Amino acid sequence: MRKLATLLALASFTFISAQFSVQAQEASSAKSPPFVVHKLTDFLYAIGEPNYYQKNFSYLLVGTDQALMFDSGANQKDDITVIAREITDKPLSVLPSHLHFDHLGGLHNFESVYLVDLPFTRGFKRKDGFFRIPEPIYLGNIDHMTVPPFKVARLIKPDEVIDLGGVKVRLISVPGHTRDEVVLYDETHNILLSGDHLYPSWLLAGNVKDYVASLDSTLQRINEKTAIYGAHADEDPTKVPAMTYADVQAIRDKMALIRNGHAKDKAFSDPDLIKSAKLYEVKDDISILTDIQFTDGRGYGY
Ligand SMILES: [Zn+2]
Repeated sequence: MRKLATLLALASFTFISAQFSVQAQEASSAKSPPFVVHKLTDFLYAIGEPNYYQKNFSYLLVGTDQALMFDSGANQKDDITVIAREITDKPLSVLPSHLHFDHLGGLHNFESVYLVDLPFTRGFKRKDGFFRIPEPIYLGNIDHMTVPPFKVARLIKPDEVIDLGGVKVRLISVPGHTRDEVVLYDETHNILLSGDHLYPSWLLAGNVKDYVASLDSTLQRINEKTAIYGAHADEDPTKVPAMTYADVQAIRDKMALIRNGHAKDKAFSDPDLIKSAKLYEVKDDISILTDIQFTDGRGYGY
């Protein structure tokens, strides 16, 4: 339904813009910035990429001692750290929520990279000290991009707290989308930055059994007042992808039904990313995809 409305809106826009000159069209597209900043609190900013088909959102946390980006965006050309530098002059690090290409686009612009400390992630460190992520892990072929090798300034253990000065976030390991998926939880302010573990659009399940276990542990930590912000918007790329506790419960319940073989699916495809998949509706724009085959022909899962 929402998709159809978007298509209609695009169709009418194309019709109107066809009446303008080429220069006018170029000027209007030049005005559409690659990054849009949303201030969520005194110390937390969402940086959206509304022009990118996956509608990514990265998050900037600013403490009194240092600043931390959760994800580096999908954009490899425009430098997301320029946006972060307009907000803060504190020492800046980045922590990817997981090692998929659309979260690593701006990684090469950061002087300091943090990474979750798991045997899986440590396995990518080579003798020269650089981490080299194999393409089948980051899946860059889908966007025709490569992730350059990078050094890691700090490995963060699951459940370790990162203290930015006045702002503390706990890193929580939540496998299911990928093995290395993590979320950041600010217990003091009751804010969960949920990466690809939770967002209000199609969730890609890499391992349903792990996903259910991670959703259970997330529900035990958060509560009905937790503010939850994910890494991809729903149909509206200008809206920060916020979710509720009830959303998480509904996703957990559907994921458990899928695990037990009791959920009904629909065939699904998307021209940009997914050749075929099973789609399980949850609520609103939220759904779960399993048995995914990407547009480049590869299957997804671990
Ligand atoms: Zn991902």
